[in-house]
Amino acid sequence: MIVVMDKNYTSDNINQVVKYIKDKGLETNVSKGKSKCVIGILGNISVENLEKISAMKCVEKISKVQEPYKKANRLFHPEDTVVNVNNSKIGGGNLGIIAGPCAVESEEQIVEIARQVKDSGADFLRGGAFKPRTSPYSFQGLELNGLKLMQIAKAETGLAIVSELMSVSYLDEFMNTVDVIQIGARNMQNYDLLKQVGRTNKPVILKRGLSSTIEEWLLSAEHIMAAGNENIILCERGIRTFETYTRNTLDLSAIPVVKKHSHLPIIVDPSHGTGHSQYVESMSMAAIVAGCDGLMIEVHNNPKQALSDGQQSITPNEFDKMMKKIKLLSELDRNLK
Ligand code: PEP
Ligand code: MN
Repeated sequence: MIVVMDKNYTSDNINQVVKYIKDKGLETNVSKGKSKCVIGILGNISVENLEKISAMKCVEKISKVQEPYKKANRLFHPEDTVVNVNNSKIGGGNLGIIAGPCAVESEEQIVEIARQVKDSGADFLRGGAFKPRTSPYSFQGLELNGLKLMQIAKAETGLAIVSELMSVSYLDEFMNTVDVIQIGARNMQNYDLLKQVGRTNKPVILKRGLSSTIEEWLLSAEHIMAAGNENIILCERGIRTFETYTRNTLDLSAIPVVKKHSHLPIIVDPSHGTGHSQYVESMSMAAIVAGCDGLMIEVHNNPKQALSDGQQSITPNEFDKMMKKIKLLSELDRNLK
């Protein structure tokens, strides 16, 4: 349920409604926008109590939230959420560009790529230190040393760093090193991991599960939010279908659908979404026109020799060319709105 306050509401009015709900043993979620204030009710409230709230002068109306996710629901929070990471913003019209290799391989590799993507205009450096590989015999990542190398690249370039956390046991190390924790597609339904990152205030990139519906994905975001962390960026990275000419099927329709149902920012990863470097640029452009809040792009200085995902990694030079087009396109897109 949500309580929509009258447009002339005061903070005393909000306190009055919140107190009334809390006195009934329920939790509230207050969202104050520029012109609208909405108070979400978490839990079951009786019809009698709803009638009492509805009769308050400061209340415009009460509506039912049908979907099972509440805090992630746009009805609970009508304005776009903007996630702040150091000096960069993602969401609410701010495009965040995250670029870097699939995996950190060496200091030279990560520092060189970091410098190049920074020069081309990236805001964040990505790099996996703990890699979820299908085969146990494939490169598993440099683990804690990989995080150290990410920090060196950050010190060299000032880029905020993003890396995937696979296990709760490394949460403290991630809290002390990365700027954004990535939860990978394979862990989207690792509810314990979601709850633990939910107890922190670290921004989280939550990738869509390989075979997850948008509702399941938003419920995973809800797990993080219910535990207290509302700094979530959703990432569409393609879903499994019968198609084999691409690694996954990039679901660009998820962008407007998520925007309708949720206030959380959504970025797109066309690298995992297609699996082939030659499709990354067109899908990036399409994602921007479809209204995404950012991109996550795999960039490698020597894709042929990459220890993971070389086939889908573009070179720094290709990234630079793409960024020039993206800049022009996003300006045009803004002017059309
Ligand atoms: C990655 O970003 O390198 C990765 C493993 O992505 P996903 O979880 O989307 O497969
Ligand atoms: Mn990868």
